[in-house]
Amino acid sequence: MNRFTAPLLLGLLCCFVSTATIAQNKFKPKYLRENDKTLLNLTSYASDNGWLDFKQDAQTEAIDPDAFLNRFGNKLGVGNGYHLKPTKDETDFREIRHQTFQLYYKNIKVEGVEYTLHSRHKRLRTAHGRIIEGLSTDVSKPMPERKALEIALADLNINADELKGRDMPKGELVLISTDEALSAQNVKLCYAFDMRIAGLKNKAAKASEPQRIYVDASTGEVVQRAALSSQCFNPAHQHQPALLPLRPHLALPGTGNSLVAQPMVASTFTPFSVNNNRYFGAQGVGNFETEPVSTSAGQQYRLSLPGTNLRVRDAYGAVPGPATTNMELWQNGRDIFNPTPHWGTNHQVGTMALWLTQRIYPFYEQIDQQQRGIDRNGQYPLVVININDTRASWDNIAAIGFGQSNNVHYVTADILGHEYTHAVTQNNSNLGTGAEYKREPGALNESVADIFGTAFERYLFPDGNQTNPSNWNWTLGEDGQGAFTQRSMANPEAFRQPSRYGAVDPNWFPANQAVSCNSLNNLCGVHINSGVMNKWFHTLCTGQFPAGTHAMNAIAFDDAIKIVYRAVRHYTHSTSNYADMRDATASAARDLFFSCSPQHRAVVEAWRLANLPSPHRCDPGCDFDVSPNVVSNAGCNQAITLNATCSSPLAWPCSGLSFSYSGPNVPYNSGGAAFNVTTPSSSGHYRYTVKLAKPGCYTPEKTFHVSVNCLSSGLCDFGSDPRYVGTWYGLTVQIRHINGKNVLVTAITGSNPDKYYPRGDNFWGSFSLDPNAANLQGCLNAGSTGWGGLSLPGGLTPPPGYSQGTEADGAVYFVANGGPPPANPCDFSQPRHVGTWNGLNVQIRQFPNNKRALVTAEPNSSNDKYYPRGDNFWDNFTKTSDAEQYRACLNAGNTGWWGMSFPSISPPGGYQQGNAPDGAIFFSTNGLRKAASAGPTPENVSLVTVRPNPAQTVITVGFVLAEAQRVSMQLLDLQGRTVKQQSHAGVAGMNEPVLNIASLPAGQYMLEVRLGTERIMQKVIKE
Ligand SMILES: [Zn+2]
Repeated sequence: MNRFTAPLLLGLLCCFVSTATIAQNKFKPKYLRENDKTLLNLTSYASDNGWLDFKQDAQTEAIDPDAFLNRFGNKLGVGNGYHLKPTKDETDFREIRHQTFQLYYKNIKVEGVEYTLHSRHKRLRTAHGRIIEGLSTDVSKPMPERKALEIALADLNINADELKGRDMPKGELVLISTDEALSAQNVKLCYAFDMRIAGLKNKAAKASEPQRIYVDASTGEVVQRAALSSQCFNPAHQHQPALLPLRPHLALPGTGNSLVAQPMVASTFTPFSVNNNRYFGAQGVGNFETEPVSTSAGQQYRLSLPGTNLRVRDAYGAVPGPATTNMELWQNGRDIFNPTPHWGTNHQVGTMALWLTQRIYPFYEQIDQQQRGIDRNGQYPLVVININDTRASWDNIAAIGFGQSNNVHYVTADILGHEYTHAVTQNNSNLGTGAEYKREPGALNESVADIFGTAFERYLFPDGNQTNPSNWNWTLGEDGQGAFTQRSMANPEAFRQPSRYGAVDPNWFPANQAVSCNSLNNLCGVHINSGVMNKWFHTLCTGQFPAGTHAMNAIAFDDAIKIVYRAVRHYTHSTSNYADMRDATASAARDLFFSCSPQHRAVVEAWRLANLPSPHRCDPGCDFDVSPNVVSNAGCNQAITLNATCSSPLAWPCSGLSFSYSGPNVPYNSGGAAFNVTTPSSSGHYRYTVKLAKPGCYTPEKTFHVSVNCLSSGLCDFGSDPRYVGTWYGLTVQIRHINGKNVLVTAITGSNPDKYYPRGDNFWGSFSLDPNAANLQGCLNAGSTGWGGLSLPGGLTPPPGYSQGTEADGAVYFVANGGPPPANPCDFSQPRHVGTWNGLNVQIRQFPNNKRALVTAEPNSSNDKYYPRGDNFWDNFTKTSDAEQYRACLNAGNTGWWGMSFPSISPPGGYQQGNAPDGAIFFSTNGLRKAASAGPTPENVSLVTVRPNPAQTVITVGFVLAEAQRVSMQLLDLQGRTVKQQSHAGVAGMNEPVLNIASLPAGQYMLEVRLGTERIMQKVIKE
């Protein structure tokens, strides 16, 4: 299609549909209807779906979360007889407290009405929920429970006589709303019965699925029916062909009787070829652990994990009756055995199910270290395979079930991940679960399951295909044995799912409150309307909307996953709808990456593309940016003023913030826009950074460069100092005075020893010229040369102290070669580099009292910071090849190995002494970094993730930094020896450096990541 016709078409479609849309009565909070200024003046955001963001600036009153409901409850709609009962109170690693309340009216639960407060350090940030106003329902005279039960049973065509001798379902009195506007007159007092009635002879169709039946406690009317399980990947719900015939009987060895739990045993299995090619890199074999068990048939190995509840069972032959749950099928199912721990192709469905369930546990731990199992307490789901009905489901109790037909199996990473996520979601927030597994909340529950299902599949991929999410597989169900794709997150339309919210999208499943949601209409579209959030997540990770077109800046996949996880865990309720999910994910992004961060803005923008625009979710007070006013050039040792400007769409966000600079000769500083600094003492092109900080806001930063030229007597006098004139492929271009000639060179600045390539006058024009150097071309007088520096200008020889060398490609260079060896080997008037240790330089330095001591120095630290060690440190670092000759020069005496104490030396002139938080003592030029005495706070230390783990070739290390800083990482073996180290120039926000571990032997390692003063350890398994 011609791209220029698309907007016109969309416009027509939009207008046509909108005239056909019927306006509906929607909920509106009391404070908005009444335009209550005492509350609204405290907020920066107040939406129709009941979300309030509170201003966080110093001028606005801070609201104590513990006083909020008493003080403002009546403005939310809390009336007489109401009680908000606390159900959750948790403070997370960001020190944000989340308090959730359930509404009761006259001691009866009002189903689906929850309210949550989010605060930090006793200051309310966000409050949300929808309170039903003006309740006056008579709850005093419900009919007898037994009478209501008879009505509920009759509704399912169940003859009460058939239930003789069984436990009868118990009724719970609840208040429910049947009205989208949450008007009080449509609230009904009901008995709710959970009907899970298995094994009836009368297989009445209506009783075929577990259901929650609501019977009006005064009229006896059946008001609602709700699904009590998530039946997923059922082609009947997916516009797909019907189920294929059942496959032949699967033979199993004799039933086992587990006697004593024994240690698990390393085991292998052969996956289906489709899984082998995808999860196992075509290695043909999977590694997992199975449990040795004594059985009547002798020692066998079972698909279970000792010490846990994980056990995969086979339901074949256990015919599900009406309302049979997966848990019952599991209980009636059979253990799966093999005579050896090497399963080969035996029980391929079961081995794959066990392997996947073992793998998903650490996957979730990487997202949140507390998410151990489905309940954060180590619990696995029960897993049952070969059910002869639906393809995959979670039963809202304990078990995941997989159906099968004609050798078609859906035991795959994305589908198992999907069902497991239903369990996690139910435990975390109950979003769209049980009675709310319908309409938008149910669709959101489904989408969250798809998102984590596909993320789990991505986590398993051994080829590290994680760098370009656009190439990622965004479909669900495609890698089952004999299976077919059922949904696409990139392109929901391919499966007739919508990618935009509401009636503007022709695939949107229209559901209003008058429609009864049951499995025949896909519970009002739970597996259809999930397409909108699926596509939103795809847009967030790829920037594409529609797929294949660039619509916005994407964010890292791992950031996006953490945002969704946090939104579900802390910011959703059982009845959250799409508008709530938009605000929940924006809040989660703000918590994790600060307000107005790229992640936060991307979340909001992706929802806007999905037709869920939001006006204010980037706090206006944080909506600012910084631009440096560049000092482009200066002399050396010259006082200059660094300067920058704050800009914002509004005027006031630029107040109450602080500027800070970093770069050569800038000590720690925080404060005003202008900062005085002395330029370095040698010529060069120096990088500075300025950033703007404000509590609670993302910290924008910009880098800029200052060209420093140490001009002496004449324009063409380069005798004392190389002159910076430009850059070329990351090298510095200088003019140097070499044996009477002014020569262009490309230099590796800071190289030790000083190494550079003489070019020739004809190199001028082939590099990126510094504007300040444009008038220096006339100074050149070396003659021309090979353009690449392969030959030298005529008559040029290395200056004293330098020697000449030739690279493999023929290029000729001059190098100081460490200079000629000093006449006195113990002359350390300049620090002498003798090795490295944990990414630090190890040097010998000379101190005022003539002590010569080992130090560890931070490379390129702007305030020359270093830790005096002692002579005894000699054996503890990696030495240069020529280091040994200097050992005898050391005379400072011994010290604490770690540098906690030091030899009897004092800081030389111009240096001060400081203490790192771990007690180590350091020397630094004047202007000690304030950060050295401040402990880490949750704002600037993040969790460290490693993926994949186990890994074979590379690992990606993930962490968030509040500000740019150098981060050192090292891998230690079990003996504590450093086997690999790497330094990373960290940027503010998410960082994902990659470590290549291909050359390491298989085994267990510890990764140590140093974030500021924090050392964070993570276990890494090399396969
Ligand atoms: Zn599902």
